[in-house]
Amino acid sequence: MKVLKFGGSSVATPERIKSIGSLIKERYEAGDLLTIVFSAFGGVTDELIKTAHLASKGDESYISVYDSLRERHTQAIQELLGSNDIVSGQVTENFDVLKDLLKGVFLIREASLRTMDYILSFGERNSAYIISKYFEKIGIPSSYLDARDIIKTNKAFGQAKVKIELTEKLTSVYYNERKDKLQVVTGFVASDVGGLTTTLGRGGSDYTAALISGALNAEVLEIWTDVDGVLTSNPKIVKNAYTIPQLSYDEAMELSHFGAKVIYPPTIQPALSKSIPIYIKNTFNPTFVGTLIN
Ligand code: ADP
Ligand code: ASP
Ligand code: MG
Repeated sequence: MKVLKFGGSSVATPERIKSIGSLIKERYEAGDLLTIVFSAFGGVTDELIKTAHLASKGDESYISVYDSLRERHTQAIQELLGSNDIVSGQVTENFDVLKDLLKGVFLIREASLRTMDYILSFGERNSAYIISKYFEKIGIPSSYLDARDIIKTNKAFGQAKVKIELTEKLTSVYYNERKDKLQVVTGFVASDVGGLTTTLGRGGSDYTAALISGALNAEVLEIWTDVDGVLTSNPKIVKNAYTIPQLSYDEAMELSHFGAKVIYPPTIQPALSKSIPIYIKNTFNPTFVGTLIN
């Protein structure tokens, strides 16, 4: 099994999703057994936070933020799948629930961390669902996997702590029953033992992919992002930053703790514990080697 993760900027537009589709199709046709983890469409998590915060302050403009999120997803479905009643129906249902939740936040003027996790989960649940259906359409047999079914945490809403043993067990059981299809998984979201929605912290989709890699003893973990791997500095700030071709797990952990946002710090541990190599690759420059962490 190879586990790939695509971040928000990699799936910010239908065009970008289409180019990921071609990349995955090639890999699928070459015989790779794949699991693909997706973040919410670029910027969606921030917008969900914005609408919830506005609602909690009693500011009715939360509705227009919500409306544009809904419109953006409707357009993505249209561009990727045309008029597809099943997909539109599911996403409409998600947005109806979200609308009720936001109305609740507006009425009680409060968005607790627990409520926020549930609200934020809609970002990844919509993106992974839509993309899994798009993959099916282009001839990649895919299943949508809501990571809340396999990743279990405590109740530390906002940045929950993963129950590793239980997560590994649930993940193996799930995969043992479904070896046939490529799994398209929601990043970032998880649930507590009672089923309440939790999240793994901002940037947590990397960690989702690492947890699944660890549980399945994956051959490789590939983190696909918007830069050429781990660089000597943040390339958005330092123009002459350059790619570091190879890092040890320790070095990668240290860099991520000191601000290299390209890897969410908890991501390293599950890979390290099973000696799974991690590649950091650029979705916008896919032939470039990127960084290998091993
Ligand atoms: P994704 O949405 O794919 O998870 P992130 O925004 O979380 O992407 O992480 C990628 C970003 O990390 C880059 O766009 C870059 O601005 C930032 N970054 C900070 N430090 C580094 C670094 N040392 N090397 C590479 N990227 C870095
Ligand atoms: N969508 C979440 C965030 O923006 C998780 C992720 O992208 O990794 O933080
Ligand atoms: Mg990230």
